Amino acid sequence: MLRLFLWERRVSGRRLVIVGHGMVAQRLLEELTARKHPYGLIRVFNGEPVPAYNRILLSSVLAGEASEDSVQLKPDTWFAERNIVCHQGDAVATIDTAQRQVTTTSGFQAAYDDLVFATGSRPAALGIEGEQLPGVMGFRDLQDTRALIDVSQRCRRAVVIGGGFLGLEAAEGLRARGMAVTVLHRSDHLLNRQLDPVAGALLASALTARGVTIRTGASPQSIAGSQRARAVQLTDDTLISTDLVVVAAGITPRTELARATGLACDRGILVDEGLASSVPGIYALGECCQLGEETFGLVEPGYRQAAVLAGRLCGEDRRFAPDTVATRLKISGIPIYSCGATSPDENTDSVVWQDRETDRYCHLLIRNNRLTGAVLFGETQDGPWYEEQIRRGDDISQRRHTLAFGAAYDTH
Ligand SMILES: Cc1cc2nc3c(=O)[nH]c(=O)nc-3n(C[C@H](O)[C@H](O)[C@H](O)COP(=O)(O)OP(=O)(O)OC[C@H]3O[C@@H](n4cnc5c(N)ncnc54)[C@H](O)[C@@H]3O)c2cc1C
Repeated sequence: MLRLFLWERRVSGRRLVIVGHGMVAQRLLEELTARKHPYGLIRVFNGEPVPAYNRILLSSVLAGEASEDSVQLKPDTWFAERNIVCHQGDAVATIDTAQRQVTTTSGFQAAYDDLVFATGSRPAALGIEGEQLPGVMGFRDLQDTRALIDVSQRCRRAVVIGGGFLGLEAAEGLRARGMAVTVLHRSDHLLNRQLDPVAGALLASALTARGVTIRTGASPQSIAGSQRARAVQLTDDTLISTDLVVVAAGITPRTELARATGLACDRGILVDEGLASSVPGIYALGECCQLGEETFGLVEPGYRQAAVLAGRLCGEDRRFAPDTVATRLKISGIPIYSCGATSPDENTDSVVWQDRETDRYCHLLIRNNRLTGAVLFGETQDGPWYEEQIRRGDDISQRRHTLAFGAAYDTH
């Protein structure tokens, strides 16, 4: 250990430690190594036993549409060729900011000049009785995915708590594996953060047609069972028998190490526009960070943060600003796109185009003659074009009658 430490002291250039090796940390490495960066040594510590992988593809792995091998992002040689040392399955346990040194759960120690938190998030807890029972699972990482596949081969019924995109992907994956799945969603329509009620209802009927039972306006009160989860009890006292409960009711940024290290945290690790935390030399990005009131639950803002932080660590003057987030989702082949506002208010006009035969739907929200939101269901090819119109903020009063038909019919 001492020899290693002395060797590190002799490393020329600065030393960077990254805590967490998820999708955003990996993008940071790619952004850094594409530049002339100042680091003689980069160490990445990961709590998971594998290097960064495409977490988004876990839904396809669960559904049996993709293999585990296909989620790998880079081969081992990629890291070795760039003088990046990956420590897998060895989470950082403590950080000594005075000595600028991290210690892992295995007792390994490494010095740093700069440190980046990229610890991501975990499934949010429900805070209800029975949540700790065996048979209640999350859907976050490769290990969860393997465990869910294993249960699906032995058991018949599943209840998924949460009708957001993660819950619906879990539900579809388990259904594709042959389970009878019920989705419980507290709001009155599915994907209520991305869709309006009509698109939410179209999605519910498409999933119902595939055999998933959807219960909206349903809140779980407790999970019943003695040795393992046996049923979910709703607030209206309905009892739904099950063999498996998947909790997908939002995410919580992983901040415990940052808090213990003395970094200012709210829901996430607080950062400024340069992704700097409250402690000099320590930065945070991805799902673990919070800028102003905003935390991040999709990969795209994390990628933009990675570009900004890499630039800053290389001396560029760059800033991250949250953006209108467009959500393009494909739940079991059902295309969905939403961008900007999703529900009208007293100052918003709606232009709606719907084909009831094919279940194609387009809802545009217009405020002061400017496009402020678009919800698309069934056909999403024009999604990026609507996003561009929202960003540009041009007066669309002359094009209002054709806008809902998409770019091909635009008279502009
Ligand atoms: C099944 C699924 C499907 C998804 N689909 C989409 C999608 O379609 N579109 C989209 O935009 N987003 C999607 N997401 C979200 C997307 O995956 C995340 O936004 C993205 O992975 C966040 O990256 P991150 O690097 O911030 O965190 P993560 O990818 O969560 O990585 C954080 C890593 O840090 C590790 N870690 C934590 N604490 C420590 C520690 N103390 N020491 C060392 N390591 C530590 C964790 O083990 C983890 O490996 C999906 C997520 C899931 C789970």
